[in-house]
Amino acid sequence: MSAEAATPANPELTSAAPRPAGERLRITEIFHSIQGEADAVGWPTVFVRLTGCPLRCTWCDTTYSFHGGEWRDIDAILAEVAGHGARHVCVTGGEPLSQKRCLILLRRLCDAGYEVSLETSGALDVSAVDPRVRKVVDLKAPDSGEFKRNRWSNLDHLRAHDQVKFVLAGRADYEWARQTVLDHALAARCQVLFSPVHGKVAPRELAEWILQDRLPVRLQMQLHKLLWGEEPGH
Ligand code: SF4
Repeated sequence: MSAEAATPANPELTSAAPRPAGERLRITEIFHSIQGEADAVGWPTVFVRLTGCPLRCTWCDTTYSFHGGEWRDIDAILAEVAGHGARHVCVTGGEPLSQKRCLILLRRLCDAGYEVSLETSGALDVSAVDPRVRKVVDLKAPDSGEFKRNRWSNLDHLRAHDQVKFVLAGRADYEWARQTVLDHALAARCQVLFSPVHGKVAPRELAEWILQDRLPVRLQMQLHKLLWGEEPGH
């Protein structure tokens, strides 16, 4: 894999060919940064943050994406993404799948030759997501307050390049996650990511729990927060 900027493979990015009307999405922000999490951590990445989320996780750090935003044509989104010259694109939110046309955006980004990832809450159906997309699917632990929203059937749609992510706010969350990994043989399906909630679990403590239990999971730190803290635009 190369770190060079993308040369979009699909001419439709620059084509003036008209698209069907109505291919619009509500967008909170599009920005270029370093991927802070998951398998693509460290890569320069364009983030497309869609507006809206039906969940309210207690530790959510993107509450500003719940409302507002701006309607953008998918052609315009693709043009802005191309302007950043990155190879990786992450579609995130909010909950991006709460807008049905997100599926179109994902397909068109893949067609254009990007490495595309999708960050999703795990509460909405992922079965129609383009198989080229690397899905990062949350499983909400009890302290999130949204445990009941977990859509377990999503596990049937995981591919080897996908990831299941647990965000953990304490020892009880960790023990639930550990049991869930074992009960569903998650590590045999895809990568499993454990991430501490900032200020609730010390990363070192989580690391020690994982090592003690010899869990086949990958500890995640939010690299972008180490680099830029809570500064917007990253
Ligand atoms: S699913 Fe994501 S965006 Fe929605 S409330 Fe939970 S953490 Fe926030």
